[in-house]
Amino acid sequence: MSAVLSLESVSVLYRKGRTMVPAVRDVTLEIGRGETLGLVGESGSGKSSLATAITGLLPSGGRVDGTVRFEGSDLTGLAASDRRRLRGTAIATIAQDPFTSLNPVVRIGRQLVEFQHWQTDRSRAERWRRAAEMLAQVGLSDPEARMRQYPHQLSGGIRQRVAIAAALLVNPRLLIADEPTTALDATTEDQIIGLIRNARQAIDGAVVFITHDMSVVRRLCDRVAVLYAGQVVETGPVGTVLGDPRHPYTKALLACDPAGIETPTRLLPTIPGTVPAPGNLPPGCVFAPRCTAALPVCSQRSPRPSAAGPGHSAACHLMGTA
Ligand code: SF4
Repeated sequence: MSAVLSLESVSVLYRKGRTMVPAVRDVTLEIGRGETLGLVGESGSGKSSLATAITGLLPSGGRVDGTVRFEGSDLTGLAASDRRRLRGTAIATIAQDPFTSLNPVVRIGRQLVEFQHWQTDRSRAERWRRAAEMLAQVGLSDPEARMRQYPHQLSGGIRQRVAIAAALLVNPRLLIADEPTTALDATTEDQIIGLIRNARQAIDGAVVFITHDMSVVRRLCDRVAVLYAGQVVETGPVGTVLGDPRHPYTKALLACDPAGIETPTRLLPTIPGTVPAPGNLPPGCVFAPRCTAALPVCSQRSPRPSAAGPGHSAACHLMGTA
């Protein structure tokens, strides 16, 4: 399987006062054609920072170290104009809040036409026709009427469908969906996940799906990378990682997944403690202060990733001790 995206020792750093603080550290991952990779972790684990390293939409003062390759070409060091062209022709994103990608004062139809700015082989009439077709494909009735509306006239679920249509209109070969269902009710979430699953079949490339929700990973992804405090702590095929998790953080996330709780309860389990802030990481294993299985060595030495099976690895001192 040829790699659509490969990250080699990628770190993302933000300026804090006089120092650069790493929000993502030394991430190496590869995503093959036809694959959906889930990036999962709590808030503050570095998932969205990693996405911005791929899209090049880092806030000012941010920096990416390491190599980000898209279809074999190094994106780091690419001029801003080339990045923009790439985002309009090959890499598309779906944000958690579609208001961030839709202009509130421009009608939907005009925005969907403008999203096709780089598709110069399409006339304006052709872009309009494709936009209407795409809205129908994402399940919106009467697309022409929707195209005359403004974003604030649409519900959250419909706005997210419009955002998916906008992303697909550029025929992306890499689709990055950053928690696109977080603000939605369960029924709408199911519908949006179904749409992204269908979109994956239409895309000749790969999907990166960012979420904090293991049940979404289970339903949608082929492989998963579990992030904690900016590091990948476990990665592998979804069936293997979710069926036989090896890192205590992955186990803790799964224990908090409402879909896996058999006895009805009012109080959902949580992982005690919080993700450490970038720049204030504990020594040794970053998960040690919250880990119920920690050994004395854990607060002294940082664990390296070890193989747990084919394509499956975890960074934990317990690896190999079972
Ligand atoms: Fe827990 Fe130690 Fe493994 Fe870290 S290295 S996850 S502290 S057992």
